[in-house]
Amino acid sequence: MQDEFFTKKRCDRCGGSLDGGRMMSRFNTDCICIRCAEAEKSHPRYREAVEAELAEIRRGNYNFKGIGYDGGKADGKH
Ligand SMILES: [Zn+2]
Repeated sequence: MQDEFFTKKRCDRCGGSLDGGRMMSRFNTDCICIRCAEAEKSHPRYREAVEAELAEIRRGNYNFKGIGYDGGKADGKH
């Protein structure tokens, strides 16, 4: 999974180029572009996703897969 993360050319979420940089989603293990990473920060469950990940790491679980991404946006669904 990690190799794929670094060799991917397209964002898992929007299909856009990853030339500008790549991030692991806070919600799941998607490899996403900077634009999608920024968009995640305005997701209504972003804080919950971050806190869930931190809680798992504190418990020693470094393989937490995230709380799941529902595609929702702060400004309403598509
Ligand atoms: Zn993207």
